[in-house]
Amino acid sequence: MPAQSMEQLVSLCKRRGFIFQTNEIYGGLQGVYDYGPLGVELKENLKRSWWAAMVYSRDDVEGLDASILTNKKVLKYSGHEDTFTDPLVDCKDCKNRMREDHIKDSKCLHCGSKNLTDPRPFNLMFKTNIGPVADDESYAYLRPETAQQIFTNFKNVVDSTSKSLPFGIAQIGKAFRNEITPRNFIFRVREFEQMELEFFVRKGEDEDWHKYWIEERINWWVQQGVEKKKIEVFNVPQEELSHYSKATIDLMYEFPHGVEELEGIANRTDFDLGSHSKNQEELDIAADVLKNKDSNARLAFQNIDSKEWEVPYVIEPSAGVDRGVLAILNESYKEETLENGKNRVVLALKPHLSPIKAAVIPIKKNDSTIVDFSKQVKDKLQKLSLGRVVLENTGNIGKSYRKHDEIGTPICITIDFDTLEDDTVTVRDRDTMEQKRVKVESLEDLLKNLLVK
Ligand code: ATP
Repeated sequence: MPAQSMEQLVSLCKRRGFIFQTNEIYGGLQGVYDYGPLGVELKENLKRSWWAAMVYSRDDVEGLDASILTNKKVLKYSGHEDTFTDPLVDCKDCKNRMREDHIKDSKCLHCGSKNLTDPRPFNLMFKTNIGPVADDESYAYLRPETAQQIFTNFKNVVDSTSKSLPFGIAQIGKAFRNEITPRNFIFRVREFEQMELEFFVRKGEDEDWHKYWIEERINWWVQQGVEKKKIEVFNVPQEELSHYSKATIDLMYEFPHGVEELEGIANRTDFDLGSHSKNQEELDIAADVLKNKDSNARLAFQNIDSKEWEVPYVIEPSAGVDRGVLAILNESYKEETLENGKNRVVLALKPHLSPIKAAVIPIKKNDSTIVDFSKQVKDKLQKLSLGRVVLENTGNIGKSYRKHDEIGTPICITIDFDTLEDDTVTVRDRDTMEQKRVKVESLEDLLKNLLVK
């Protein structure tokens, strides 16, 4: 059962420390959020899972962590300065601004007035001054997508790794967009994270690779716990394609506020490497690119047989980390009525995503023997480096179980007086609520089996 509403997720996130409004004590900053103690773990686990699938499990992908501050020339030749815009409309009555494509029935989203201005383009990039002199020319951009830094590092990565086609470069990191109407919690924000792969292929093999990556990406989301039937594959119509794209598939997910994009998988053709390359006239670039007078690198491969320089095509699966977190929270949130008539909230996260992997609970808060033993168990499990293990020393077992159900901890381990006699502990399963008695020495394997598949 999915979450009933966005409000329930927002409330859980605040109450339990997943996500907070940024700078809340000063009234916040619109479209910007902070990840709290549990949110940082969940988000990190999702990113690690992406990295494991996209980099570690493959030998044809390399990683990158490039800078956020970006030379304005990069975003000139990428086309962002001219085309990275949304159509903006002002309401002449209530003075609110909104995106034209968000408006329904030509009415203001805030006051319902039809007294709206004509749409005009609004560039979404954040500019910032760089260096000590704040003149008109000394500015850089905060990157609006991580992709461009991958293209500008293409030659560095090829030269340092001797990769040949097909191969990819993966990156996870922040991106910034001055969204006109940030909304729906962490769905549309101004500072967010992306997980992007730029996969370079030979022209002519691009369409097959596009299909391949669509399949791969859907499978990955399913492995994260997203129900396959809630992912819609949307073929973006020609007239709505970005300037660089030959074909784009959006993976649309049923978020609490509606069906919207979770990830885009685009065939970017040879637009990107062609745009950032020197000597463009010597290369047979299919895309319509701006004449580049500034680049000092040829971003192409030489065909061994024909000796011709070929500009690779690019397939790009681009996923939002924050939208991923929202989808995962939505999928795993459940409210259940138990046999005794009581309700419980449970976050049925896949264990590899759970912020806390196990909670060790001493039955008595003030009993130093029990508490010391519990600490030893916690330390031993923590040393496995499978994620966070906590000591939950509240002295209230029922309350601890409820808390860990709600934050998605797969198992709770209770240490009691029998433990000191027979070296056994009680392990409680989050989903079934079943409790079983196991030997202390079996706990490490139990946790490994839960997390290492
Ligand atoms: P939308 O149409 O929803 O504005 P987009 O098509 O502009 O999204 P892309 O440029 O394809 O998005 O970016 C790739 C991914 O980055 C998206 O699928 C999404 O998950 C994420 N993303 C983009 N913009 C935002 C944002 N403002 N807030 C959070 N995530 C975002």
